[in-house]
Amino acid sequence: MSTITAHVEQANEYKSLKDKVVVITGASSGIGRAIAIEMGRQSAKVVINYLGKPDAAEEVVRDIENDHGTALAIEADVSKSDQVQHMISQTVAQLGRVDVLVNNAGIEKESPFLEKPESDFDMVIAVNLKGPFLCTQAAARDMAKRRKGTIINISSVHEDLPFPGYSAYCAAKGGLRMLCRDLALELAPHGVNVINVAPGAINTPINERTLSDPEKKLALKREIPLGRVGEPQEVAKLVCYLASDDASYITGTTIVIDGGLMHQTGSL
Ligand code: NAD
Repeated sequence: MSTITAHVEQANEYKSLKDKVVVITGASSGIGRAIAIEMGRQSAKVVINYLGKPDAAEEVVRDIENDHGTALAIEADVSKSDQVQHMISQTVAQLGRVDVLVNNAGIEKESPFLEKPESDFDMVIAVNLKGPFLCTQAAARDMAKRRKGTIINISSVHEDLPFPGYSAYCAAKGGLRMLCRDLALELAPHGVNVINVAPGAINTPINERTLSDPEKKLALKREIPLGRVGEPQEVAKLVCYLASDDASYITGTTIVIDGGLMHQTGSL
């Protein structure tokens, strides 16, 4: 390897992720999967949280281990406090502590507001808003013991941007915006940073219906100044930076990663 190549490779890796214990919720697909793989590549010890489909979670573990990383799959429904407690206590028992929590698990349910079933509203709020509350509380209690830790919430441009048909999703992500700001203040004295990452349209299973329809995909791309949908790896690189000690002065704010979408819609 030439000296220049070695330097470039070194610069691409945030050394401070080495051996950090990172819990990522909903990490068996999409953005969570990409974050897990990138964290593993950067020598963090990664907990792959998943719900159902254990094969997909085990595949992420294998990918990380094949790349000489350390990973562990733990099933837990983020909306259930007993399962969340178990996930965090298992992490501490097996890997020693929690340094970084990425609240990534999320669901969408589309329907016009006048017809939206109460059960859909409850479910979206339970996973997308109560989930981060429960996981953050469990992880931050461990982080507070060492007065150091980072919570990263995968929010959405829809923490600000209205999205007809997705009232529960928007309410949950809007709530996550305030949860981030509030917890940043409450947890700062405990040495814990809280940051939201707000992706625009990213190429993952959650967008399958839109992205598999050529007309809908074209209409979406026309709304994005960069003219394309983002890739999960692009979000993963940002999250790795925010999880590193290089980002130690960032807390209580949202970092938008959307190819310019929010400006196009006048929402930022
Ligand atoms: P995805 O469907 O691939 O990932 C969501 C993951 O959450 C899945 O692995 C799913 O199994 C898991 N999950 C769902 N309910 C759970 C629960 N109760 N407990 C534990 N895990 C659960 O889609 P994605 O796009 O990768 O979504 C990840 C996050 O990114 C979500 O919070 C989503 O709102 C957010 N986001 C995505 C986009 C996008 O365009 N893809 C844009 C903005 C924000």
